[in-house]
Amino acid sequence: MKDTKYIFVTGGVTSSLGKGIIAASLGKLLQARGFRVTNQKLDPYINVDPGTLNPYEHGECYVTVDGHEADLDLGHYERFLGVETHKANNVTTGRIYQNVINKERRGDFLGKTVQVIPHITDEIKRNIKLLGAKGDFDFVITEIGGTVGDIESFPYIESVRQLRWELGKNCMIIHLTYVPYLAAAKELKTKPTQHSVKALQEQGVQPDILVLRTEHNISADLRKKVALFCNVETSAVLQSIDVPSIYRVPLNMQMEKLDEVVLTKMGYDLDNTPAADMVKWTEFVEKLENAKEEVRIALIGKYVQLPDAYKSIIESLIHASAYNNRKLKLDLILSDKLNDENVALKLGKVDGIIVAPGFGTRGMDGKFAALQYARENNIPCLGICMGMQTMSVEFARNVLGYADANSTEIDPNTKNNVVDIMEEQKNILDLGGTMRLGAFKCKLKKNSKVYSIYKKENISERHRHRYEFNNAYIEEFEKAGMLCSGMNVESNLVEIIELTSHKWYIGVQFHPEYSSTVINPHPLFIGFIKAAIDK
Ligand code: GLN
Repeated sequence: MKDTKYIFVTGGVTSSLGKGIIAASLGKLLQARGFRVTNQKLDPYINVDPGTLNPYEHGECYVTVDGHEADLDLGHYERFLGVETHKANNVTTGRIYQNVINKERRGDFLGKTVQVIPHITDEIKRNIKLLGAKGDFDFVITEIGGTVGDIESFPYIESVRQLRWELGKNCMIIHLTYVPYLAAAKELKTKPTQHSVKALQEQGVQPDILVLRTEHNISADLRKKVALFCNVETSAVLQSIDVPSIYRVPLNMQMEKLDEVVLTKMGYDLDNTPAADMVKWTEFVEKLENAKEEVRIALIGKYVQLPDAYKSIIESLIHASAYNNRKLKLDLILSDKLNDENVALKLGKVDGIIVAPGFGTRGMDGKFAALQYARENNIPCLGICMGMQTMSVEFARNVLGYADANSTEIDPNTKNNVVDIMEEQKNILDLGGTMRLGAFKCKLKKNSKVYSIYKKENISERHRHRYEFNNAYIEEFEKAGMLCSGMNVESNLVEIIELTSHKWYIGVQFHPEYSSTVINPHPLFIGFIKAAIDK
């Protein structure tokens, strides 16, 4: 068996250059050559995980099948590679320190002074090598969050420096930088790149490959200049030019020969390594780019000012629209601003409505207004998590006639004096912390719409929530035409509701968006878009 190879992706000059996309693209290209690949993200912030972060901070909180609340880059990795990630794929500085401090409290350091080097760096290295330890992967691609030179990323860069020595040829560093175009001078400028490489070198790390983010093509001469200044071979200076869709990036990086340069530098004989099979991927990208007719979807949420807060939902919609040969036109609608008076104006022209996940009471009334409008006007509607919960409450209020139906999350007094449609299931939560997190099994009723969508009886989907449908109301809901069509059998929990008389009105307690990939778009999103375009 060949040793696992470790590739690090660092970033310089500015943040938001798309390190995650470059790392995922490289992962895809290596995977398409038949290698087993996993991507990892190291985040330099002190939060132990992003679970407690407001979505306005870092965008969506992604959830892995094993119930880890993770950085949204793991979503890119899964969407690109189609391989599940786990807790070990995302590590924060908070978790590194927490582990080291726990060890210190247990006395594991035998009275030694605990320091950044070697104790923190050892823990970082342990977390990197953990992924390769079982021999499951040929390549572990680790993205270092933040920008080189940040105080926070020092211990990570130092760990990379040490690993470079320990692993030799089995380790490689790709540095992503930015080459700005000065319009007045009509010139691309490489100085920021030179400086950021210098910052890395000052920390003892020499990058093997440079990927230059740019808005204009970088000439061979300029590449030669960068190579000269940065101690990198000219063939290892690649460009990543702006593209309309992130899904073009792997194809562009293939044209730049990123995978070839990586493999050659790591000692592979290219003549005996299969070429990357990107046929299916290219088919998807072409469908995405060539779709002419639009499908217009409204996404109702409380964090829409930052679209990254709904990253996986938006990407799932893009996958499913392309699958259905449609171009996605997305209306992001702030639920706080939606009400019974303006709902027809705002939603009158859309083909489908998604009511997004979310926590707390803000924007709730707008969600009720959107749901009632979708329900009464036969507009395809998908409620996700809080979206399914608000669907339940809206139905209880306006169809079953419980004017005071509510959820204890929205109104803590609900338990005592109004109809509690969504309740906190203490007995389940006591087992697993404060939320139901990760993948849980769900059984679909055979006579349901969801069964015809999934085409199977047993599914498994990821969760992230505290509240559950109150089973005391199942019978009444079903009598009135809202079928509880998916159940978690072990804990007797309602996972899916669907309105039998409606064209497509489905609420899911779980998050299908976490498992939609480029090659396998999620059936619920495919079905939703299909219904939206079916006039
Ligand atoms: N607020 C709801 C709960 O905790 C739903 C959370 C969500 O939408 N992810 O149950």
